[in-house]
Amino acid sequence: MEAAAASEDCCVKVAVHVRPLIGDEKLQGCKDCVTVIPGKPQVQIGIHSFTFDHVYGSTGSPPSSMFEECIVPLVDGLFQGYNATVLAYGQTGSGKTYTMGTGFKDGCQTGIIPQVMNALFSKIESLKHQIEFQLHVSFIEILKEEVRDLLDPTSLNKSDTASMNVGKVNIPGKPPIQIRESSNGVITLAGSTEVSVITLKEMAACLEQGSLSRATGSTNMNNQSSRSHAIFTITLEQMRKLNPISGDGSPNDILNEEYLCAKLHLVDLAGSERAKRTGSDGMRFKEGVHINKGLLALGNVISALGDEKKRKEGVHVPYRDSKLTRLLQDSLGGNSRTVMIACISPADINAEETLNTLKYANRAR
Ligand code: ADP
Ligand code: MG
Repeated sequence: MEAAAASEDCCVKVAVHVRPLIGDEKLQGCKDCVTVIPGKPQVQIGIHSFTFDHVYGSTGSPPSSMFEECIVPLVDGLFQGYNATVLAYGQTGSGKTYTMGTGFKDGCQTGIIPQVMNALFSKIESLKHQIEFQLHVSFIEILKEEVRDLLDPTSLNKSDTASMNVGKVNIPGKPPIQIRESSNGVITLAGSTEVSVITLKEMAACLEQGSLSRATGSTNMNNQSSRSHAIFTITLEQMRKLNPISGDGSPNDILNEEYLCAKLHLVDLAGSERAKRTGSDGMRFKEGVHINKGLLALGNVISALGDEKKRKEGVHVPYRDSKLTRLLQDSLGGNSRTVMIACISPADINAEETLNTLKYANRAR
């Protein structure tokens, strides 16, 4: 692939999504402590003020425009062969799963992933006469620096035994999933389920199955979902037929490559409160440290990528510091497009974590 358009502006875009006060917070009498400057992508909390690429919710842009503004360019890029990553960051309860749509159930259309699937399939439909497509989906979770397959066909049975096996991530006998890098820098997950999908319905079923598997694990394993990173990955392969009939005449039509492959990672990150130590006793300490590792490494990687001066000087990007950044390595930076969505609660009781989230997101710019 030629490195065409992607490098003209910063490869990491940062948006903030402010959810409304929810029932629980209202019952507790919480006040809204987050101010969004109307018409500007600017957030104020206390004496602190931050500017991002976009701010959605509250008095910012309507959340309904997030998909069009932040995600559609990534979906379009997939068809040009560019990898991409969408990250939902924020404390537990801030709306990461809601924003991502990783809690997808019964055909619910809210959330980024269901909308990505719709956009993807309608684009494929319009291009299928010129191009042959193949789609694959994987859905994994990273907990304590171990990768768990959420599409493992045996995982639903596994949840029955999970209560006896608390803390065990893999079924005994099944080799652990490994992150591998090929000589040309392509990252693959050895040992995880890759489902080949043809229809929107099949892809939606993968999302639903994995979301259910994650939720089931969480009741048995002490709210695991707030401690783990969930990564839904869509791989799009394209085989351009020879002598394509010029379609809509857009410049993308006349690319010479006959084969393109790109992937989109949609990531529901662990709760950012886990970036701190959760305790000093055995197990919890280890979890705290490990999740700290993923979010910390991600922050360092993104901040290295966002700093153009550093990039030009060829400063080392610390991808290898965690499983999360290792897995995303070929889809963060370079020609890839990345959107981080910082999710925040407007409630005053969450002010400290909200400020931490805004600071973290601010580093990414
Ligand atoms: P997280 O995944 O960050 O822990 P959730 O996505 O589970 O947070 O959201 C916490 C609660 O807030 C849920 O009850 C969810 O339905 C609600 N919520 C989150 N975002 C919104 C929103 N934008 N509008 C309305 N309710 C929301
Ligand atoms: Mg969640």
